Amino acid sequence: MSEATLDHAVAALTDGSKVRIPFWHIDSGRPGEKFMVLAAQHGNEVQGCEAIRRFKEVCERELVAGSVHLVPFANLPAVRHRRSHISLGPEQPYGDDEGHNMNRTWPGKAHGNDTERLSYALNEAVARHCTRCLDLHSWSRFTATATLARLDGGLSEQMARVAGIRFIQWRKPPTGSNDGTTIGALFNDSGRGSITIELAPQWVIRENEVSLGLRAATNLAKLFGMIGGEIEQIDPTWSSAGRMTMRRCASTNSRRPARGCSWRPDSRPRST
Ligand SMILES: [Zn+2]
Repeated sequence: MSEATLDHAVAALTDGSKVRIPFWHIDSGRPGEKFMVLAAQHGNEVQGCEAIRRFKEVCERELVAGSVHLVPFANLPAVRHRRSHISLGPEQPYGDDEGHNMNRTWPGKAHGNDTERLSYALNEAVARHCTRCLDLHSWSRFTATATLARLDGGLSEQMARVAGIRFIQWRKPPTGSNDGTTIGALFNDSGRGSITIELAPQWVIRENEVSLGLRAATNLAKLFGMIGGEIEQIDPTWSSAGRMTMRRCASTNSRRPARGCSWRPDSRPRST
């Protein structure tokens, strides 16, 4: 039994106030990977928060090697505001963020905007010390839970194949002129493994989605030799998913998947 200790990443914001982002640390006392699991980089994506709380209990009972760092509320001010980013008002889209999309700010800036300061604090206190990462999000519109990973023969691909999520969307590393990057790219570009899982949907916490997130985290810990037992696979195995495209409906101004662009199962059977 390894009891969790509660610690905080402390971010100094532009108005002089401080935000204390809580995280649990559980150390088996034996050598091994340092596994970071975080949720709610976007404050309305809260399904992973409960998955992390339950994973903490699993780790307290079963961790046999390495250590875990668990961050249930990565973007704590956005969670408190019930917004995806701390800068957004009601009905503003993700894109109107003025640099406040937390998952484009890694590794953060000590003297940047408030969101960059949050990721900086988390990187200093947690991420830069860890060797593996699971980043839990929630889809905005889609209902099919999916893993986002790199198809590069490396750690990210290996992690995606054992996560036990029905769909995997293979993605290229992000490109662009932003100063910051995703936390997944931060880990994968430095030879540490990372995947993202998009639970579904946003704003709510549902038992089935929490169970998927918990199973994925536990499977990854087993892959890393941190928890004993067999990896719990799904039957049939996962499918690779095509990139969703959305079409705006002229009459209702709502968005929906474009015809022929829904999830495409891979025609070839794939083993994990
Ligand atoms: Zn997200």
